[in-house]
Amino acid sequence: MLTILPLPIVNTYRGWTVHKEPGRSWILVDNKIHDFVTGSTCHPEAKDIYAELSRLTEHIKAEGYIPDTWLVLHNIDEDDKELALRSHSEKLAITYGLMRTPPGNTIRVYKNLRVCSDCHTATKFMSKVTRREIVVRDANRFHHFKDGRCSCDDYW
Ligand code: ZN
Ligand code: ZN
Repeated sequence: MLTILPLPIVNTYRGWTVHKEPGRSWILVDNKIHDFVTGSTCHPEAKDIYAELSRLTEHIKAEGYIPDTWLVLHNIDEDDKELALRSHSEKLAITYGLMRTPPGNTIRVYKNLRVCSDCHTATKFMSKVTRREIVVRDANRFHHFKDGRCSCDDYW
């Protein structure tokens, strides 16, 4: 008897991860949970957050950060790819934490999915240039960023 099982469609393109749910990150600031969705501009301070993130991105690029635009779909140009990476939820949440918590405070962010390799690299640089400790709890584990390094040693 022939049984046809419904097989899930698996996308095999390297670096192209198709998520069923959007990337979502949370941070607690002033005893309030701030929720960021990748690419979203609905936070009341979204304009300031994107402006600060642009400034921070230029700063870390000067320190050697190279946006991993290879992760983004291929049919858009380089500038747009960089912009798409820049709007990842964990970057928005971390930036907000840097803006709204006192210098020296540890930033703690929670993410529903696994942190992407570009955000991981960017966060290492951010921890270095801002001299902040940044803890990201993603779907798999804790990442503790400090002085340009992560506790996972880039293996996660
Ligand atoms: Zn990312
Ligand atoms: Zn890590």
